[in-house]
Amino acid sequence: MENEVLTTLPFLKGRGGAHCRGCGGKDLFTALDLGDLPIANELLRHSDGSLERFPLHLRICTECGLGQVEDVVTPERIFRDYRYLSSMSTTFLQHAADYVLQRVQEERFANDDWVLEIASNDGYLLRNFLPHGIKVIGVEPAQNVAQISESLGIKTISEFFSSQLAQELQLNYGYPKLIIANNVMAHVPDLIDFVKGLAILCGDETQISIENPSLGNILIGMQFDTIYHEHYSYLTATSVSAICKTNGLNLFKVDELSIHGGSNRYWLRNSSQNDSVDPSVALVIQHETENGLFDANKWSHYSLEVSKILKGFQEWLNKSREKDIRIYGYGAAAKASTILNSIEVEKGLIKAIADVSLEKQQRFMPPHGVEIISPQDLFVQKPTDILIFPWNIKTEIANFLYSNLDASVRLWCAIPEMHQVKLR
Ligand SMILES: [Zn+2]
Repeated sequence: MENEVLTTLPFLKGRGGAHCRGCGGKDLFTALDLGDLPIANELLRHSDGSLERFPLHLRICTECGLGQVEDVVTPERIFRDYRYLSSMSTTFLQHAADYVLQRVQEERFANDDWVLEIASNDGYLLRNFLPHGIKVIGVEPAQNVAQISESLGIKTISEFFSSQLAQELQLNYGYPKLIIANNVMAHVPDLIDFVKGLAILCGDETQISIENPSLGNILIGMQFDTIYHEHYSYLTATSVSAICKTNGLNLFKVDELSIHGGSNRYWLRNSSQNDSVDPSVALVIQHETENGLFDANKWSHYSLEVSKILKGFQEWLNKSREKDIRIYGYGAAAKASTILNSIEVEKGLIKAIADVSLEKQQRFMPPHGVEIISPQDLFVQKPTDILIFPWNIKTEIANFLYSNLDASVRLWCAIPEMHQVKLR
């Protein structure tokens, strides 16, 4: 397992004394230390296998407000064989379709205009532009996922986005009309190079739209299970504004969205475009400070709350052992891995975890090799209780489960604290 932990990038020096990934500053405080965890999207091939663990330690820069995990696992390891397909959730598909429709209605796309999506995944978003005759290019490093997108007729470059790739794209295709980068900026270890790449491709007519869950939701919504190694950075409007400004981009608007448990959509333009900044920018930045996002004491209190939630979850699992009940999980998402690996789970307490993704079925969730099965298998195994891990789409999942299961089956979520999920 040599070369899995990056040590060569200038700002990434490992535990202690690391510089901020966004601004190079040195003043970072501990927000939450989850200990050593496996990479959240890595699954076992055998029930008795084990995975390498890496420290997972969220810190926040007091200078630019960027949250970040300190120890870094290479993107090559995490993303080359990525098992997350955006098209697996109807909520995300609808969100993507709505976004594209809005863009097409609000913008005037000329014949030679084109749209670039960075981390275009399986083409779940870009495919919505095709019926409008708008040219699109996707950048998606995971080859297995890029192939799906290509099969839909979407030109897809299977590489990591970087300033170098941006230069090549600009040279070959000119400036895009629109650059979309959803749920990706947090995934890049060299954030500055990524932003430089955006700036290279940002012509005078280009708009950049970036969606990402906000660090505020981790704090306010107790969403600590969204901290994992592949999320190197935890964005705030404060940090996006600061980092982009030093690289020639201007944050001119922030939309607050409900997707992924609360995301921000950051709108960027070339700094040379001297036009007005929407009041939403100052407002969101002000709320971030007022909510204590950059306050070490607030996070220290938060760490205690997280411990209580994990304890509550563990007690719930243990209590179930005494009764005649059969607990299953639903959604073998990264969130499941983070929470299950943050507590001591007794083997056999969770019978299996169901997931619609064929990519995940017949693999096993660490630490105890809980089998991942199809939803159809879940239905015949007669669960009494199901724990929904992707709480951000719990209503969608609950609807699906209750349309296939007896109403006596209890559905649960562990975030923000252990609670039963009811449709009404
Ligand atoms: Zn910083």
